[in-house]
Amino acid sequence: MHDVIIIGTGPAGISAGIYTSRARLHTLIIGEKTGALSKADKIENYYGFVNPISGGKLIADGISQAKRVGAEIMSDQVVSIGYDDGFTVNTKNEEYKGQAVIIATGSNRTAPRIEGFSRFEGQGISYCAVCDAFFYKDKDVAVLGCCEYALHEAIQLLPIVKSVTLLTNGVPPIPQIPKEITIIDSEISSFEGNETLERVRFSDGNTLSLAGIFVAIGVAGSSDLAKKLGAETEGLKIVVDENMATNIPGLYAAGDCTGGMMQIAKAVYQGAQAAMEVIKYIRKDKK
Ligand SMILES: Cc1cc2nc3c(=O)[nH]c(=O)nc-3n(C[C@H](O)[C@H](O)[C@H](O)COP(=O)(O)OP(=O)(O)OC[C@H]3O[C@@H](n4cnc5c(N)ncnc54)[C@H](O)[C@@H]3O)c2cc1C
Repeated sequence: MHDVIIIGTGPAGISAGIYTSRARLHTLIIGEKTGALSKADKIENYYGFVNPISGGKLIADGISQAKRVGAEIMSDQVVSIGYDDGFTVNTKNEEYKGQAVIIATGSNRTAPRIEGFSRFEGQGISYCAVCDAFFYKDKDVAVLGCCEYALHEAIQLLPIVKSVTLLTNGVPPIPQIPKEITIIDSEISSFEGNETLERVRFSDGNTLSLAGIFVAIGVAGSSDLAKKLGAETEGLKIVVDENMATNIPGLYAAGDCTGGMMQIAKAVYQGAQAAMEVIKYIRKDKK
């Protein structure tokens, strides 16, 4: 039985694992290779890096650091979590037991199947307004999505960019979209450009020229794992208190899966905070 099982090898999970391992808790971190950070090509707003660093390098270094301080790290996909005298974490391949669990599985940023989409990811197609808006200062951009998350991203962009168009790709938009945002609800047939994205082509043949698109289809997704245990969720995010505790004793969540600001700095902080609470929780049990 592990003291704690952490699900997710992004900044939230790895940060948590560094704290719990250094406190000498028997720590298992389970994660798959891809998270939000692995898609980030260039990060220049995280403390301590004079020059931009890639997400892939930041993950690899974090994993090496956690291993050095004693965390066990497993590459696998968690399919469910159960509770019966401790937590049972089922992966595609194994079953693990832990006294506490931290869910740090990020958010499910849905990628649409549209021609040209993957070609322009990181070259005009972004997933994060707060990270990348500055690169589109005074330019025409669009948000791909229809609902609350898309509205949130559009509002982040409005003060910085020249114009924001909401592309709903055939889905009806929510009524709260303010009038400064133009809505186009036609289906998209392709994303086009040369080195970087230059325009969107719709299935009716019309085109829209723009410098960037921010993808905001749905939010989070980790709530499925939490819901199975009866943990409280709100939309797709896991509800936590200021110590990252859910309403289920021994179950914590950290990082993008808790909603709010989706940034590395916040994920690292929440992972550390969740770990501090797990340390108290386990030590209380051992007395
Ligand atoms: C393109 C892009 C650019 C960005 N740029 C910046 C930036 O410049 N600055 C900044 O601060 N932030 C940036 N971000 C945001 C930042 O990457 C996230 O806020 C941060 O990575 C969140 O960390 P996390 O640990 O919560 O989630 P993630 O980094 O998404 O990690 C989640 C982990 O959980 C694992 N996982 C998910 N489901 C399962 C499962 N069922 N079983 C096992 N493992 C699972 C994933 O494989 C992954 O290891 C960017 C994001 C994107 C997409």
